[in-house]
Amino acid sequence: LRRPFVLANWKINMAPDEVGPYLQTVLPALADESRVEVGIAAQDLYLGQMLAATQASPLTIVGENTHWEDQGAFTGETSPKALAQMGVEYVLIGHFERRKFFNETDETVNLKTLAALRNGLKPIVDLDEDLSAYSHLAPDQVILSQLEAALRGVTADQLAEITVAYEPTWAIGSGEAASADQAQEAAALIRQSLTNLYGQDLAQKIRILYGGSVTPDNAPAFFCQKDIDGILVGKAALDPHKFLKLVNQAQ
Ligand code: 13P
Repeated sequence: LRRPFVLANWKINMAPDEVGPYLQTVLPALADESRVEVGIAAQDLYLGQMLAATQASPLTIVGENTHWEDQGAFTGETSPKALAQMGVEYVLIGHFERRKFFNETDETVNLKTLAALRNGLKPIVDLDEDLSAYSHLAPDQVILSQLEAALRGVTADQLAEITVAYEPTWAIGSGEAASADQAQEAAALIRQSLTNLYGQDLAQKIRILYGGSVTPDNAPAFFCQKDIDGILVGKAALDPHKFLKLVNQAQ
């Protein structure tokens, strides 16, 4: 029903001379991949090169961020219109690191989600559990309030373009992943909330990813969960062989 999604998030970790060799390792292995959707989120500098290299490949190239205006006088920002025209299909929105280090708020995450949709980019909306910004709310309520805020103004037709990623703050880069049960519980809550907002039929179509210290050791347990449809992987995916292993584990 929901095609599994394995997404690497390189963040700003890959050096320019590492991009080509990485792609040369993974592209042949992914040439016939249709069972799983496979993507790499990379910094803007590499997107052109990566899009060119993957034209005949099922590998999807993903932006790590977008501005909320289509174009204009916003020095240093990334235009969603330009991303879309270049051939980028998805864009990460509201990653915890963006919220923490670059002051992204529920409001800017919402504006960016709407900007991505308006330009034909598919948003991957990141939810975390950073309690510091919401001291009066319990963890469950934090992710749900982030979800509701991100989706404000998103129509039912547009919802189909959205992927949701649940990445608990404490699990990102810590080596301590959530347990599969914990992640499933959060994913089920997210799906219930989508059901309340948009109805069951649509909510059942939306993919929910888990991210935070995913490795080939713990990934199989996440793939077995009813409401988890894929993984968003930082550190482990910097090794192309581990990344391919994660793709093979997807179900
Ligand atoms: P790690 O896999 O390194 O914990 O990073 C997760 C992440 O932030 C993916 O977006």
